[in-house]
Amino acid sequence: MTKNNFPHLIDLDNYPVSSWDSITNLAIDIKRNPHIYVGACNGKIMGTLFYEPSTRTQMSFQSAMLRLGGGIIGFDNPANSSVAKGESIKDTTKIASSYSDIIVMRHPLEGSVKAAALTSDCPVVNAGDGGHLHPTQTLTDLLTLKAEKGTLSGLTVGFCGDLKNGRTVHSLLKALCCYDNNKFVLISTEELKVPTYIKNRISASGKEYTEVNTLEEAIPSLDVLYMTRIQRERFGSEEEYNSQKHVFCLDKKKMKAAGKDMIVMHPLPRVDEIAVEVDDDPRALYFKQANYGMYVRMSLILSVLNEDIKTKPLLTGTKMPKVCCHNQKCITNFEPSLPHSFRNYGGVLECEYCDERLLLE
Ligand code: ASP
Repeated sequence: MTKNNFPHLIDLDNYPVSSWDSITNLAIDIKRNPHIYVGACNGKIMGTLFYEPSTRTQMSFQSAMLRLGGGIIGFDNPANSSVAKGESIKDTTKIASSYSDIIVMRHPLEGSVKAAALTSDCPVVNAGDGGHLHPTQTLTDLLTLKAEKGTLSGLTVGFCGDLKNGRTVHSLLKALCCYDNNKFVLISTEELKVPTYIKNRISASGKEYTEVNTLEEAIPSLDVLYMTRIQRERFGSEEEYNSQKHVFCLDKKKMKAAGKDMIVMHPLPRVDEIAVEVDDDPRALYFKQANYGMYVRMSLILSVLNEDIKTKPLLTGTKMPKVCCHNQKCITNFEPSLPHSFRNYGGVLECEYCDERLLLE
């Protein structure tokens, strides 16, 4: 593998859809026959750079690498690393990648993991970049759907909660647009609707979506209900968060209106958007979903380290050093050495790090 063709996973789009299928299929095999994969990553090291809290993503990656016989280095509290001394992502990644065979990174700024990949000497996996994307949660979700619904096509999927800031929602919506005949019901308040760039992607794929304000009006038509928490840490003020919390709650009464085969998913953590009484309903699959996440990450690590995946270059747009992304949470507004790079859609520019759209003046 040369530096230019590392199979970085920043957005699921980096991999062809055939790779998503082979990764989820391999995960199913690992779950059925774990003994075959013991020691498959002997001598390999995974570096985990977690600049933001995580339970499932971090622990499932760690457990995945340990089950494959590999080792782990890294931090989950940047205050205990040179980040606290002001080190840039570029430098931290350069160093960590020289100690590792694969890097897994989570960071609060959007586009930050792509920025890390630009400088890395090994493949980098995005474990969540701000409110932007979370591709390994999406692989988890695709595996859950495949294993539990038997298909990734022809599904009516409801997404409920913080659809504006929920990175798992953005990544999964984009992925499900690549399969036939899926429909989406987007359930949120006016303030927390899905960002326009994602709606544009849905429309461009020819899929239908509707936007509604209550769970009650959506539930009867759904095959899958994907619940999410209100992302407190992404709000500008506590006041704004308070105006949005506690709006949606899935309880036993609402589940009565759901079809007998509708499944409930949630990337977790749950706050109060699913009542604990729903946990015993056989249609509630969120804990099982988290377990699938470990197998899909074992499969991903193996596929990346075995160089089984072909990827596209990280930046393909036009370099525009004088143009700045308007998204205040975009990494390009924090790391001055990054090349500003945009896709140009006839005068509308899309930042290649965070996907924010801006009009040329
Ligand atoms: N665990 C998911 C994430 O990291 C969902 C969440 O935090 O609400 O995005």
